Amino acid sequence: MSDTDNQPIGVDLLHNPLLNHGTAFTEEEREQFKLRGLLPPRVFSQERQVQRSLENYRKKPSDMEKYIYLIGLEDRNETLFYRLVMDNLEDMMPIIYTPTVGKACQEYAHIFRRPRGLYISAEDKGRVAEVVANWPHDDVEVIVVTDGERILGLGDLGVNGMGIPVGKLSLYTACAGIHPARTLPITLDVGTENEKLLNDPLYIGLPQRRLRGAEYDALIDEFMTAVTERYPNVMVQFEDFANLNAFRLLNKYRNAYCTFNDDIQGTAAVTLAGIYSSLRLTGGKLSEQKLLFLGAGEAGIGIADLIVSAMMDEGLSEAEAKHRCWFVDSRGLVESTRTDLAEHKLPYAHEFAAQPDLLSAVKALQPTGIIGVSGRGQMFTQPIVEKMAELNERPIVFALSNPTSNSECTAEEAYTWSDGRAIFASGSPFDPVEYKGKTYVPGQGNNSYIFPGVGLGVVAVKARHVPDEMFMAAARTLAQLVTEEDLAKGRVYPSLKRIREVSGAIGTAVAEVAFAKNLASVARPNDLPAYIEGQMFQPVYQHDS
Ligand code: NAD
Repeated sequence: MSDTDNQPIGVDLLHNPLLNHGTAFTEEEREQFKLRGLLPPRVFSQERQVQRSLENYRKKPSDMEKYIYLIGLEDRNETLFYRLVMDNLEDMMPIIYTPTVGKACQEYAHIFRRPRGLYISAEDKGRVAEVVANWPHDDVEVIVVTDGERILGLGDLGVNGMGIPVGKLSLYTACAGIHPARTLPITLDVGTENEKLLNDPLYIGLPQRRLRGAEYDALIDEFMTAVTERYPNVMVQFEDFANLNAFRLLNKYRNAYCTFNDDIQGTAAVTLAGIYSSLRLTGGKLSEQKLLFLGAGEAGIGIADLIVSAMMDEGLSEAEAKHRCWFVDSRGLVESTRTDLAEHKLPYAHEFAAQPDLLSAVKALQPTGIIGVSGRGQMFTQPIVEKMAELNERPIVFALSNPTSNSECTAEEAYTWSDGRAIFASGSPFDPVEYKGKTYVPGQGNNSYIFPGVGLGVVAVKARHVPDEMFMAAARTLAQLVTEEDLAKGRVYPSLKRIREVSGAIGTAVAEVAFAKNLASVARPNDLPAYIEGQMFQPVYQHDS
């Protein structure tokens, strides 16, 4: 049912989440769109709808129930969903994204209600373009895609990983105002190695082993061609691919398409921002730091690569900069005599005596900062943090592994063991800590500070690629937005309450890089910040629709 200019009417309008206003349809709209009788008679403001939704949300007995409630609201009325989430972002981000979204992915097949996003499977080989053509929107600007092989810290969840692109794109809208109709979550179902899923009769993906090698690569190539043919200016964010594919695909596509990998590059930028902020407390330059990473995966190598670029910007050679980044993995220090190293670790395998563990590596290398990205909890032990505090007046201690139970140490441990001197940041949020009469507010190195703003800048100027300079600019901008008051409390990131401002500023900085590097496809507007801000979706009802 629709009128002549494709405006849905009646129940079709109520079932269109992008256009539905529910009980907030005005008398005139109810008349015009043949809604009379299909809604209870009283007209409500959006504020009242938010009040009702919040009441329902708060009544839900578990985080999983809250997740299901919010996704249900998104399916009914996206404008209201975004109003609610944006007004309560600190409360709801851990529900629509990590950690609850991880649990939701684990149970995805069992809590499945209705599909969201686009599923492209191994069986679509040769006809991926037809599948992409089925998506109902013509102006998609941002795609988040996963193949479900390494969902958060939870491993291979196959097609159940769809919760991740859905959640990430919600954050693009909530944090940076990318219009929801211009976002497209995609899961590539290339099978799974997860026995539990393979044996689950309710599993919603192909019950088969993963494609590998040439067949896998051909499907990804076909996917990239299909989405960019239909959406020539689209930015494709790769998310939660396993190491063996993540680095390879990034290197293969980064100069051919408008694409990036958030686990590698987004994490890198948010961590670099935290280090820049830390330097405002310690007083040194980035190029004077020696950083020791625990964990040499996507996050660790991604962070080090960006730090190397940023150090080179300060005048170091590439070799000098690499020598300032060191890694300990599950087998000890990554060094040049080791024969068991995956390719992505080799650039950081420096000549040095073997060290069996992190403590011995800290003693031998005397780093200014330790960065935990191992996915293993309790790895920053008391002797390690104490040694860092002995070596440095203000040691940088970033425990970035998620969820909270995997954090390399807690905020309280970092402050207590360093006598209040550690500059601490974590991947998952920690409550403020009281220590010797002072309140410390730990910063959360949340990727949501970075990727939405980067996406905003890229799509606003239709950039052709997403080079590392954009992530460096994003990191610098984020660090500049940290106030003296934040720093005084030990907090190296701004409050999440300022996320729209943060994303707008990062969007502007990223767009500047696009113009400077001749990657933009639009003419430079006179007032770039205003232009960027003008692109941001606001969750208000358009009563003239
Ligand atoms: P990954 O699987 O790619 O890498 C993990 C690395 O840790 C691997 O190299 C592995 O060999 C190593 N490792 C495992 N056990 C170890 C041990 N006992 N000692 C030393 N190293 C060990 O994962 P990733 O994407 O790099 O993510 C790692 C962690 O970082 C995860 O917990 C993730 O949640 C977290 N992370 C945080 C942020 C953030 O704070 N913004 C962003 C991305 C990832």
